[in-house]
Amino acid sequence: MSQIQHKLPSLDVVKDIDLEYLSQLITGLRRCSTKAGSYEGKCPFCHSSNSRSLKDAHNLPAFIYPHPNGEGFGFKCCSCKGHYVTTFKLLVALNADSQQYALDRWNAGRFCGRNFNCPIPLVIKDQMEIERKARALEHRKKYEQQRQLNKTLASLRDGSISPIDR
Ligand SMILES: [Zn+2]
Repeated sequence: MSQIQHKLPSLDVVKDIDLEYLSQLITGLRRCSTKAGSYEGKCPFCHSSNSRSLKDAHNLPAFIYPHPNGEGFGFKCCSCKGHYVTTFKLLVALNADSQQYALDRWNAGRFCGRNFNCPIPLVIKDQMEIERKARALEHRKKYEQQRQLNKTLASLRDGSISPIDR
């Protein structure tokens, strides 16, 4: 229970980041009057394309809705039926800077990777890989030192090397 209560305010940060990116991609973004917590605006897909007939027939707005687990927003367009369950996926589809978005989420509180709906940014992944390799190397070095020491101790016990005067 306390964990959930602790998690709620931090996930609001993701919503803030999402809105920052979405408001740049969806022009005229405004609060949706019929769906609480949702926003609507012009679809970045069909509005800018030549789907004039769709626009004329319905002129329905695209909307973003709160992700069910409280983690940012999903996107849906009523006209072209474009549907992306996360902001990250929408950014990828729009060829926007999804990596910068992921990095913003990471820097805000590591809201990426397992348990989150946004992958770890590639720069961080690379950094983690370098650190992992360095740790493995360090581990290997310590292992070799210990192995060498064990060998020396074993031979001392065998009496094959006598460190004391002869
Ligand atoms: Zn659309």
